[in-house]
Amino acid sequence: MRKSHGPAFSKQMIELVQCPTCKGKAVIKGVFHDLACAQCNASGWVVAATGEALPLEELVTQLSLRLQAAQRHISELKQPRATGPEAIYQEGNRRGAGGSNRTLD
Ligand SMILES: [Zn+2]
Repeated sequence: MRKSHGPAFSKQMIELVQCPTCKGKAVIKGVFHDLACAQCNASGWVVAATGEALPLEELVTQLSLRLQAAQRHISELKQPRATGPEAIYQEGNRRGAGGSNRTLD
């Protein structure tokens, strides 16, 4: 494989696929205990283009990028529009304005 230009430690996301050996589980069922899957460096992921595991120092970053993307996705799903603290604050203001117009006697 030919080395590309630029720094060796690229922060770009590499396309990963589920490890076919352990089926993404990162471990293989042994007789007495689970064994770390050697095919994917016990990550459950291999490079889509080559089917091989990434070196550990690169693998950590790639998993982090994937995790960050997943967490962003989750937090977007958890935050429907117009129900944040701002929406609650505006609602409170409206109630306050209405209350002040009312006379008690
Ligand atoms: Zn594996």
